Amino acid sequence: MERFDVLIVGSGHAGAQCAIALRQAGFTGTLAMVGEEAELPYERPPLSKDYLAGEKSFERILIRPAAFWAERAITMVPGRRIVAVDPAAKTVRDAEGREIGYGNLVWAAGGSPRRLSCSGHDLVGVHAVRTRRDVDQLLAELSAAQHVVVIGGGYIGLEAAAALTKQGKHVVVLEAMDRVLARVAGASLSSFYEAEHRAHGVELRMGALVDCLDGQDGRVCGVRLANGETLPADLVIVGIGIVPEVAPLLEAGADGGNGVRVDAQCRTSLPDVFAIGDCALHVNRYADGAEIRLESVQNANDQANVVAKLLTGHDAHYDAVPWFWSNQYDLKLQTVGLSIGHDATVIRGDPAARSFSVLYLRGGRVIALDCVNATRDYVQGRRLVTEGIVADPAQLADPAVVLKEL
Ligand SMILES: Cc1cc2nc3c(=O)[nH]c(=O)nc-3n(C[C@H](O)[C@H](O)[C@H](O)COP(=O)(O)OP(=O)(O)OC[C@H]3O[C@@H](n4cnc5c(N)ncnc54)[C@H](O)[C@@H]3O)c2cc1C
Repeated sequence: MERFDVLIVGSGHAGAQCAIALRQAGFTGTLAMVGEEAELPYERPPLSKDYLAGEKSFERILIRPAAFWAERAITMVPGRRIVAVDPAAKTVRDAEGREIGYGNLVWAAGGSPRRLSCSGHDLVGVHAVRTRRDVDQLLAELSAAQHVVVIGGGYIGLEAAAALTKQGKHVVVLEAMDRVLARVAGASLSSFYEAEHRAHGVELRMGALVDCLDGQDGRVCGVRLANGETLPADLVIVGIGIVPEVAPLLEAGADGGNGVRVDAQCRTSLPDVFAIGDCALHVNRYADGAEIRLESVQNANDQANVVAKLLTGHDAHYDAVPWFWSNQYDLKLQTVGLSIGHDATVIRGDPAARSFSVLYLRGGRVIALDCVNATRDYVQGRRLVTEGIVADPAQLADPAVVLKEL
């Protein structure tokens, strides 16, 4: 059995960044990354953006060129799914029963797309957008498809709708709530994006509940709604969130539930086991001290950097301000902070001019910004969030007032 000083499970953003940061910090021990996917680490955000639109090749979304990992003595173990962790023996076991030992374990297994549970969910032509494999399968079927139904009006569903509409497909987005982006943004941003998608020819249905998927010869051909209506569908994209991949850790006794619970140093309750990225349930001061999982590249990278520092003998705590982006059509959304729990919003700039920001306040303090084609607000408004500045809404709304001066 092989044993590594540091073993990383999961070769996505968090796992890759942890390995990179460890070597950058001078870590000289043995280091391996075991991942279920066949590929070397790649960027996931383009999967619903330029990669889906056919505008970027796979090579261009690799996090590092292939030679990088070998040059830094990072042992890559692709195509292996870890199914068990033994914290006493300090080993993990893969689906074929092979064991690998560790000194420190970094769990960076992200999440799996939540699947529909209704009949027809497993028909050919029903796709998630989480991995390169998902998107390659979808792209292989795209030329024969005209009617695409996207289930879920979150960022991934909307980005996919934009990419496929641009390619001439007829796209319907089904959202169960009364507005898109309901989980992550305020109502004004939702209505802006709804209008944009409609203007580009996307059909949006709010409050739409899926009853089942209809098939013909094993292939999806329609989506039946709870109101009895059936929408024609050559392809269905399901973007309804993820389920964190933490079962082996929880079965080994780690605290958690919706994710594995970590402290401010990304330590789980198991000795010498860290967890980072989408799967890490942590107390986040930007969520008003609530315990959350953040599904973003920022969080994956920043938590990875914390663990790399700790494992090279430095002190570190996770306290980074959340940020995120989304590209749809020619709209570049950049967000900073978390708008959860806001009690007021201020619009800065003119949505009709397609360049504006929404500022979210709680108790008078700026807690988050969503900036659409407004990079200056994003850059200059960051400190309002990190420092929890109390500002006059009238000044925040006035584009003539420079945000960094507040
Ligand atoms: C389509 C799409 C678009 C996105 N767009 C944005 C964006 O614009 N901006 C942004 O900030 N974020 C975006 N995100 C989110 C971002 O990609 C994730 O937050 C980030 O990838 C999380 O990194 P991670 O390493 O925690 O998980 P992942 O990147 O998911 O990596 C986890 C890896 O672990 C592997 N794995 C899982 N279980 C096991 C196991 N048991 N054994 C071995 N390996 C395992 C998985 O196969 C996977 O390769 C997007 C995500 C998707 C899917």
